[in-house]
Amino acid sequence: MKLRLYDTYTRSLREFEPLHPPEVGMYTCGPTVYDFAHVGNLRTYVFEDILRRALEFNGYKVRHVMNITDVGHLTSDADTGEDRMEKGSRRTGKSAWEIAELYTEEFKKDLKRLNILEPTIWCRATDHIAEQIETIRCIEKKGFTYRTSDGIYFDTSKLPDYGHLARLDVAGLQAGTRIEMAEKRHATDFALWKFSPPGQKRQMEWDSPWGVGFPGWHIECSAMSAKYLGEFFDIHCGGEDHITVHHPNEIAQTQACFGTRLANFWMHGYFLQIDDARMGKSVGNFLRLQDLIDRGYDPLVWRYFCLGAHYRTKLNFTWEALDAAVRGFQRLRTAVHEWGEPSQASEEHLSRFTEFVDDDLNMPRALALTWDLSRSDLPAGVRKATVLWFDAVLGLRLGEWAPSEESIPDEIASLVDERKRARAERRWKDADALRARIQAAGYDVEDTAAGPRIKRR
Ligand code: AMP
Ligand code: ZN
Repeated sequence: MKLRLYDTYTRSLREFEPLHPPEVGMYTCGPTVYDFAHVGNLRTYVFEDILRRALEFNGYKVRHVMNITDVGHLTSDADTGEDRMEKGSRRTGKSAWEIAELYTEEFKKDLKRLNILEPTIWCRATDHIAEQIETIRCIEKKGFTYRTSDGIYFDTSKLPDYGHLARLDVAGLQAGTRIEMAEKRHATDFALWKFSPPGQKRQMEWDSPWGVGFPGWHIECSAMSAKYLGEFFDIHCGGEDHITVHHPNEIAQTQACFGTRLANFWMHGYFLQIDDARMGKSVGNFLRLQDLIDRGYDPLVWRYFCLGAHYRTKLNFTWEALDAAVRGFQRLRTAVHEWGEPSQASEEHLSRFTEFVDDDLNMPRALALTWDLSRSDLPAGVRKATVLWFDAVLGLRLGEWAPSEESIPDEIASLVDERKRARAERRWKDADALRARIQAAGYDVEDTAAGPRIKRR
């Protein structure tokens, strides 16, 4: 059986064939760097990492491009409201450029902690203003644009199948929308270039053939994916929210300019939910990876938790479910550690594993098979060699974990408890003395909202 992937564009499972084997071009919409990523965002990046690893497992050479949105993403997807970067700048008192730098670095740190492979190419929107202007000029030349008092817009009525990806009811949308239209001619039209507001100097603005301003959010992905992957490439992915606005607009731009639907496969990861609602920065119900770490969770537990659900189902977050993942993951890596040195992998298990990976990345079944392997009566060395192969896709660092670093000796644990008591009774001098003893024994204690955390110095 060959690798089969679900393509949102055709709403079907399709056999994957690279356009230019053995190379595969893959573009993933990256973060808007006005704030920290939350664990919901990170679920999408874990899904994309599994996809990339699955392609490599199949012997393909993946050229993976990820953008960083550091300009143009407004607070409302209807091309109104403030630029998220400028808003983030006001919130933090730092410049838009500084926060872009800061949150890009934080994002990269999160990817590393989740053992997500680094993209082959990172590209920042602000480093590609010329390419974006060029793409808009191309769209303009083909007759798909119009000008309003605040920018240059894409006229979606000129594309007969605009919104196909989302199966959008364009006529219905048009009839139903009166709000947020401003001077837009159609509800689904979107900004390609926005003018800086009159009399106001933005932190991020550029000269263009149409006037000083900044690019709309969608144009960066069309311009940069074409630059690094060509006008038609293998796979484009992102979170499910992109099915309705961002990706149809990327497709419209590319169709107008190059006549292609940009990518051969369109793939989408479903949302992480909390209390049955989407986890989101704007909803304000989000957790960062760092929050989990502060509560004593190993960041790879998040990865393990994500693998427990298929990427095309919503995943509901609860602390109980996360704790169950902790126990499962801990049992698994302890077992793998105890299997010692690898010998020869089990062909039978490898072929079943490949079958699950190739069946649209069925990670829940791949994990279940890992447990089967663990419980099997195969020699330990065979189990070890096999699981190391699995881990090329799972990415759980199963071969690297060893128990010793994690365990805290009893006498240190009791000093920490004593210190906790001292602090609760406001005996600060005693607490300080206990901290000094803990440090002298080679450990650091850090006070977090979830209680003290102990680390080797
Ligand atoms: P943003 O930084 O807001 O542009 O989002 C980055 C990525 O995370 C996009 O691919 C979104 O589709 C995705 N995303 C946003 N919220 C969630 C969520 N609750 N669960 C999974 N993915 C999400
Ligand atoms: Zn994009």
